[in-house]
Amino acid sequence: MALTHPSKRLEAIPPYMFAELERKVGAKREAGIDVISLGIGDPDHATYPHIVEAMRAAVGDPGTQSYPSNRGRAEFRDAFSRFYADRFGVEIDPETEVIPAIGAKECIYHLSFAFLDPGDVALASDPGYPVYTGGPLLAGAESVLLPLVPELGFAPDLEAIPTEALERSRLAFLNYPNNPTGAVVPDGLFERVVELAREHEILVVHDNAYSETTYDGYVAPSFLATPGAKQVGVEVFSLSKGFNMTGWRCAAILGNAEAIASYWRLKTNVDSGLYEAVQLAGAAALAGPRAELEEMNAIYARRRDLVVGALREIGVAVDPPRGTIYVWAPVPAGHTSTSFCELVLEQAAVVVSPGSMYGPSGEGFFRISLTTPDDRLAEAVERLRAHLA
Ligand SMILES: *Cc1c(COP(=O)(O)O)cnc(C)c1O
Repeated sequence: MALTHPSKRLEAIPPYMFAELERKVGAKREAGIDVISLGIGDPDHATYPHIVEAMRAAVGDPGTQSYPSNRGRAEFRDAFSRFYADRFGVEIDPETEVIPAIGAKECIYHLSFAFLDPGDVALASDPGYPVYTGGPLLAGAESVLLPLVPELGFAPDLEAIPTEALERSRLAFLNYPNNPTGAVVPDGLFERVVELAREHEILVVHDNAYSETTYDGYVAPSFLATPGAKQVGVEVFSLSKGFNMTGWRCAAILGNAEAIASYWRLKTNVDSGLYEAVQLAGAAALAGPRAELEEMNAIYARRRDLVVGALREIGVAVDPPRGTIYVWAPVPAGHTSTSFCELVLEQAAVVVSPGSMYGPSGEGFFRISLTTPDDRLAEAVERLRAHLA
């Protein structure tokens, strides 16, 4: 009906490709089959107690109950400044180089509106978080995919980007530790990206959703620790995954002051900022003890080993990731991403995500999330062994 016809912009978003898989899961569940989903990356443990306590106190403070400012509370900006200094060795001016975001997703989406005009290009990691391509499209611009090459440690081949695309590029979206591949940043990549960005005047947006979720002693750097990064880039730091805060919508953008000022200007026209109690809780998260976070990482590492072991037993060649909450693995020979995921669902009543869901370069892979409770994950792994070996 014309009355409810969506905009061309909205219609340009590709249809959701996995409706068919979801329909099959739904049908199985209706038939009484106990389907275990390893599809979604959403921590299964509670937000750490000191964060909840800070929130409790902040909710009762009338000083948090008015409209927040998009600039954010001093406590929030100071906490980020201290965290970036201690954790990453990065100096952040709390006055100009950090403001809150209502989750990384909001921030990444709006950066496209702050920086892209029709005809402009955003370079987007492929496979990658869907907003890297959806944002530019909804903003009336284009995205050009940067295939992450397994042989390069899931780095993009920067030499292979067409000159024509580089000339029109205004943004580049990168993410390490990487969702969905689990890769950590290959040596020298951030340095080469800074160089490319300088040469072609591209604003780099590093999506830092997983720096605190790493294993085997690996410590993830901030993109902003790269020499020259602040001149050409911003980093979006989300508390969602590392601090078990997905529902709280708490993130920040840090780095280039002029870029942050443009994002701020856009946001003053769109939303009214991040609830101040959440800002105070976020500040408490960053300043607080790390024991729970380390414990959470130990849980994920254990689950990772369980999953990797089972996959190897069923003939899947997989490397254990050193970061993120995902195991990314190639499908067995003769399968596509979708056909293998359908087979796993049929045989084992387990849902794994087809890699092609995250972009064309994800074809030939599947993703398993480690955020399923231990007993359910163990059951899923048993089923893979029993039905697919
Ligand atoms: C989960 C995730 C996000 C979402 O972060 P929010 O702060 O919850 O919006 C962003 N980027 C990547 C790569 C993610 O995996």
